[in-house]
Amino acid sequence: MAKKTPTNSISLLTKKLNKIEKQLNDLTIKIATSTDTTNSFWNNIQREATILYEEARIVFSSWTKLNVPFFYKKNIQEQIKKIKTSFRNIPVPLFSKYINRDIHKQTLAALINDAIAVYVSGTDMGQKQYIRLLRQTQQLNVLEKEINQKLAEGFQANKSVFGAKKKLRNDLLKKFLDGKYISLVDKNGEIEHWQLDTYAELVARTKLIQATTDGTVNLALGVGSDLVQVSSHNTATPFDAQFEGKIFSLSGKDPDFPAAAFLPPFHPNCQHTITVVIKEALEVTGTLKAQSDFANDKIGQMPNRKSFIPVNKRFTKAGNFTKSFSNHLVNSFGEGSAAKKFGNKLNIGD
Ligand SMILES: [Zn+2]
Repeated sequence: MAKKTPTNSISLLTKKLNKIEKQLNDLTIKIATSTDTTNSFWNNIQREATILYEEARIVFSSWTKLNVPFFYKKNIQEQIKKIKTSFRNIPVPLFSKYINRDIHKQTLAALINDAIAVYVSGTDMGQKQYIRLLRQTQQLNVLEKEINQKLAEGFQANKSVFGAKKKLRNDLLKKFLDGKYISLVDKNGEIEHWQLDTYAELVARTKLIQATTDGTVNLALGVGSDLVQVSSHNTATPFDAQFEGKIFSLSGKDPDFPAAAFLPPFHPNCQHTITVVIKEALEVTGTLKAQSDFANDKIGQMPNRKSFIPVNKRFTKAGNFTKSFSNHLVNSFGEGSAAKKFGNKLNIGD
């Protein structure tokens, strides 16, 4: 069996959610193509949609309850090992005992609750919108039936109300045909739509990074260290670049290192992590001064890391990253293709 990594366990999560998304898409196509006006038909659709949304929430919360503790503990175990091998004089707690402390239980409970709450609120709002879509469709079908009947009886029918309502319905329908079953209110108060799987991926990744940060901060306290170091992968994100590779003081009281004003995740989908640094180890290896100068922006090159590219060589003057770094930008949000596939057939453009 392949080693369990955040990437492969997140891909198992998105695969499951993608299946649910496909089932919802089948339902959406039913909605888009049906001329049924009966309550029993539309109640059935509503029931099916409710079950699928509930399944998505269960998939996400089971995944979170299993994987957030797993990677939280794995990070602590690895860091204890690292401290033990790189600096023997520091008393390091025994992992199997240390991990049972209350501080970890509380940290994990908060992480899990928060991740689930975020995903549940997105699916709840998406579900409400979806039910609105199917009720709007039922009303349109009723209206259309009436218009057709009037015309058959030789009367004039006002089609403009029908057209306006249909346009509203179709705008919403398009989002769902794109597989975007999650709705959120963004910073500007506008509704944003996301796919079940890509949104889960975003929340899961961000929460796993949060779990390593919280665990590392707890461990730093556990071994009596005040310092943590931000990982480095020559990021193309200007905000993150100012912290990359640097050592920060958690209390803000260390004379050699700046206060940790920000810790990862610096933004959704951030890949940065932190590790515990033992100050005595820096003294013993003679890297304290260089690390301190680097953290305080006195030098641009990260000590002992040849692959590190200084931030001023990484970005253009305008603050944009140079072309060679554009491939570091990973856009993991795929657009759904259902609307492209079915859009013409269903004639939802009118
Ligand atoms: Zn980052």
